[in-house]
Amino acid sequence: MRRAWNLSEEFIAGLNARRVGPATGFADVRSRLAKPLNDEGEDPTRVVEELASAVEPGLVATAGPRYFGFVIGGSVPAAVAADQLASVWDQNAALARSSPAAAAVESVASEWLLDLLRLPKTASVGFVTGCQMANFTCLAAARHAVLARAGWDVEKDGLQGGPRVNVVVGEEAHATIHSALRYAGFGSGRSIVVPADAQGRMKADELRKALASVVGPTIVCAQAGNVNSGAFDPLDDIASATSARGAWLHVDGAFGLWAAASENPERRALMRGAERAQSWATDAHKWLNAPYDSGLAIVATPEDHRAAMITAASYLIRAEGAERDPHDYTPESSRRARGFAVYAALRNLGRRGVSDLVERCCALAVRAADSLRLADGVAVLNDVVLNQVLVRVAPSRGEHASGSSDAVDAHTRAVIERVQREGVAWLGGTRWHDREAMRISVSNWTTTDADIDALVASILRAHRPNA
Ligand SMILES: *Cc1c(COP(=O)(O)O)cnc(C)c1O
Repeated sequence: MRRAWNLSEEFIAGLNARRVGPATGFADVRSRLAKPLNDEGEDPTRVVEELASAVEPGLVATAGPRYFGFVIGGSVPAAVAADQLASVWDQNAALARSSPAAAAVESVASEWLLDLLRLPKTASVGFVTGCQMANFTCLAAARHAVLARAGWDVEKDGLQGGPRVNVVVGEEAHATIHSALRYAGFGSGRSIVVPADAQGRMKADELRKALASVVGPTIVCAQAGNVNSGAFDPLDDIASATSARGAWLHVDGAFGLWAAASENPERRALMRGAERAQSWATDAHKWLNAPYDSGLAIVATPEDHRAAMITAASYLIRAEGAERDPHDYTPESSRRARGFAVYAALRNLGRRGVSDLVERCCALAVRAADSLRLADGVAVLNDVVLNQVLVRVAPSRGEHASGSSDAVDAHTRAVIERVQREGVAWLGGTRWHDREAMRISVSNWTTTDADIDALVASILRAHRPNA
């Protein structure tokens, strides 16, 4: 363990200077590791040392300040340390009786989270692996509630033969909403899809029309923070439309939900109306900068949350009185005590620290957009309302067919690849309005102005190598 801690210190100390993307790929790392499993076991120090040195070139500096791919936070120090203790303590966070410590820390962290995210104090929180599972957990609670109201016991009788449930999603719903719908038995292809505007926001008037055309149990999935543009669905309008119809409103806010923790009223306004929903899914491993894995499934009505998740067996000693059994709120039974890291991240940052983290990342996204916009042939595609920037780059005028959309697509792809290869920063690509774009996501607590300037310089070198 001492050796592992030394390696951890070395890694953290070198994070800012190391190549951001991996130095090698899957096949190479595999070949370094792949030998027949030994018969007798090996010395733990040797196992750890050889593992660390074999995987080293395959590591990605996702925890560092210049990783702008996907939406990936780093880890604040207290959270990394608490998470290490969670491994050492090896608590089973299923029951209050399997670990009063794990259950109690989740209970406190839940209260802090609801307060910080300005959600109803009476809501329940499940500590799941990520927003994918949070979306699933919330939709399972929704499924329970809308069908119970229709007189159907979905936990006992399943979906087959029951009343049809209308599921309404935005055109720009995250891919994990569709997988969550699949896991929940609704299928991913039967949803009513509401069109989105140019920023990727669900159109509330179209939602109203869609809701007017359906009868019976209905679930609406809205989004706070589009994974590409950062845009928010008009949540207040959507909440009015869904409550008028008696539908369940779920909000996927993997990172966007954290806008509510900002002290900047403009940022908070993006979340206006979110508190009127019935469930919310978010991540702690993205913007809170807790280590992987850490997602949060939040349900306004704890009884629906529990009804969908509860596992009963005679040997499982139930919580009593004010105690809380964590597994009543998650699909998992036995699991990691990930509440320790969430608690530590929240306390390490404090209310002001979380707000500053959100605001800093948003300001850095604006800085990136503003610098890039000045360069010849660069277009910023989205309104930068949060931490996400979408960029397209056009080849020089002299180049063959430089003006065509296909040429811009090809050049944008090439620039992404060159930036990744150079290693100063890392960003990925996406399709936006059916065209190629590069995505810049600023979600790390250590990112500074200088890191943004280094990213911009890397993009511009890749864009105009001879300039
Ligand atoms: C990242 C993301 C998810 C999925 O979260 P995981 O933590 O990868 O499970 C869901 N919705 C949105 C909007 C996201 O950005």
